[in-house]
Amino acid sequence: MALELEINPIKHWLPQLNNPLLIAGPCSLESEEQAMETAKLLAKDHRVFVYRGGVWKPRTRPGSFEGIGSIGLKWLQMVREETGLPVGTEVANAQHTEEALKAGLDVLWIGARSTASPFVVQEIADVVKGTDAVVMVKNPVNPDVQLWMGAFERLSQAGIKNLVAIHRGFTPFRETQYRNYPNWQTVIELRRLMPNLPIICDPSHIAGKREYLFEIAQKAFDMGLDGLMLESHRDPSCALSDKEQQLTPADLGKLLDRLVIRNVKSENKQFENQLELLRSRIDVIDKELLELLSSRVEIVKQIGQYKKENNVTALQINRWTELMEKRVSLGEKLNLNPTFVKILFQLIHEDSVRMQTEIMDSE
Ligand code: PEP
Ligand code: MN
Repeated sequence: MALELEINPIKHWLPQLNNPLLIAGPCSLESEEQAMETAKLLAKDHRVFVYRGGVWKPRTRPGSFEGIGSIGLKWLQMVREETGLPVGTEVANAQHTEEALKAGLDVLWIGARSTASPFVVQEIADVVKGTDAVVMVKNPVNPDVQLWMGAFERLSQAGIKNLVAIHRGFTPFRETQYRNYPNWQTVIELRRLMPNLPIICDPSHIAGKREYLFEIAQKAFDMGLDGLMLESHRDPSCALSDKEQQLTPADLGKLLDRLVIRNVKSENKQFENQLELLRSRIDVIDKELLELLSSRVEIVKQIGQYKKENNVTALQINRWTELMEKRVSLGEKLNLNPTFVKILFQLIHEDSVRMQTEIMDSE
């Protein structure tokens, strides 16, 4: 069931927005000079609407740079005075939130590790209550859409209406070249369940490396997301955190030049008609797919019955290994992605084994 919380569109708190929302700035603020110089370079690009800078840095393991602390808030205030850009940082507890609000920051974001803790989200919500700060919530480190939604519900219950979700990928739970697995499915679920919630993408923390930033950012626009948060540092080679994934402001500009921003809808009638036609063909094919799966289930049940009568196990690993190899290789001949075919047949097989064991265990 979709959840319609009272959420303001981005333009409500950022009336100058005339493009997707782009938030840029260093992973961590390191010195007044680094904060200011990066900000001045970024502010020259009119596609940048908000400046970010981490002040308190959540590090997975202790020992690396944990942020400059409260002094960074002062630099953010200076950036806003100098460039006119709204400024934001990550908060991870009530004290950070109090300090950030006291410093007059426009945007606060809750990091991926904090979103996974309802206590932390609640304490932040309790402090923001009654202000008009913008609160952005990164996805939790695990792909749990309910936990992500729960954070918005807590903030909404505290009367906070300026809300944005940030997709920054998930701790890898399957092989990936990225630092964090994008699992777009979870983002699609969030959009379906909370249709009026703006969602932006953080390609920097998904990618982990500069070379992947463009493909992730483009994918975010292809999926109709509302903007991007990208890390940018005046000199990434000496950044104190996340140096491999940050771009100079000039390289950020080049990346933005290449991105194609797509519309959610088209005004072109002919396009809409053609799309309708193609979609109706997809509907027919999907129906055929389901009918085929249903016929397959009938046979699976017969096999289950037969195995039961002959006292043979539901899972027969040799048959399964052979089946998988054959399906993947046939799929490849039919231009299907092998990983897709593998996952598809894992699901089909899992359900077949479940049905067969049910038959075997029934009276
Ligand atoms: C960050 O934005 O610098 C950060 C630490 O993000 P995340 O919570 O996504 O790891
Ligand atoms: Mn970072």
